[in-house]
Amino acid sequence: KPLGVALVGLGKYSTGQLAPALQQTKLCKLAGIVTGTPAKATQWRQQYQLPEKNIYSYQTFDRIVDNPDIDIVYIVLPVGLHAEYVERAARAGKHVICEKPMAPTADECRRMIAAMQKAGKKFSIGYRLHFEPHHQEMMRLGQQQVLGPIKSLVADNGFRFNNDTPWRVDKELAGGGPLMDMGIYCVQGVVYTKGQLPVSVTASFAPKTDPVLFKEVEAGVNWQMQFADGAVAECRTSYAENLNSRLRANTAQGFMELQPAFGYGGIQGRTSKGAMNLSNVPQQARQMDDFAACILQNKPTRVPGEMGLRDVQLLEAIYRAAETGRKVSTKEVVAVLDKV
Ligand code: NAD
Repeated sequence: KPLGVALVGLGKYSTGQLAPALQQTKLCKLAGIVTGTPAKATQWRQQYQLPEKNIYSYQTFDRIVDNPDIDIVYIVLPVGLHAEYVERAARAGKHVICEKPMAPTADECRRMIAAMQKAGKKFSIGYRLHFEPHHQEMMRLGQQQVLGPIKSLVADNGFRFNNDTPWRVDKELAGGGPLMDMGIYCVQGVVYTKGQLPVSVTASFAPKTDPVLFKEVEAGVNWQMQFADGAVAECRTSYAENLNSRLRANTAQGFMELQPAFGYGGIQGRTSKGAMNLSNVPQQARQMDDFAACILQNKPTRVPGEMGLRDVQLLEAIYRAAETGRKVSTKEVVAVLDKV
């Protein structure tokens, strides 16, 4: 019988991506929802034929402990609320998937990991691209040095933010601006393509084109990640302009590149040898089925909480580099999780 998933927070990502994906999964299915909006509860109950007893508000959420229909709680809330809800789900004894970025600070990430360890349940981050064929090909080509060792990388991801989800420019709810939300894909892509963590980072903030909109968070960041062997990644993120969604690695003998790179579909890849000719797949369905398989077979997830913590530490280092104008060492981050 498929494992039951409860989505916490029925915003754009739950509505547009995760709920439809849960109609395609084989090892798990949508079994419950947690929402603060009664109209959404009614609509989702009808659309997905959910029993009344599997519908929770943020106030009644903790009662999920008594509900055997729910095996997995999926946190799809603004980033500043992730820690609270992961900890509550842990206390309810559920397995948890938490959306990216894991939390505004590394300290919160550590608390979340500790809570999940205490609960003895599985914990993963919503890093969907680890289950996507083009990104898996970048990992293979880079980590196995198929086209030779990587000398440099480029990663860009950003869009012109229209304030449709105001929490994204609220420091407390988002933890930061586009670096937290979009730049994290560049950090992830660079690390799993290079197959290593950087030893240091340098960074600078882009000008605040709209000081009102970007009162609390940055409008954009340009940053570099330096590797032990001398390779450098040049990265860019923004909420002020639509950037190409791009991940590229230049090697001794050639290159490999995804563009568009980071979306839910339409990813295209090529190398110096030609087009990748890989298909686009339902990423979120694969991601959630893999987590269900990890639970059913009691094996570790390839996108654990420790990876979320590690990435938040890298983001913190990038912010520190941009704020101080100095090169910031990331050597201690490697100890958290050296698996890419
Ligand atoms: P959204 O604003 O559309 O949805 C957020 C939901 O949280 C809404 O339903 C809102 O009602 C609810 N909420 C509860 N308490 C709130 C509060 N105090 N303030 C604001 N909203 C509150 O955002 P989204 O785009 O669905 O993003 C949700 C999470 O999913 C974020 O962590 C985001 O980074 C992540 N996300 C991941 C991907 C991905 O590709 N993995 C894509 C989009 C979003």
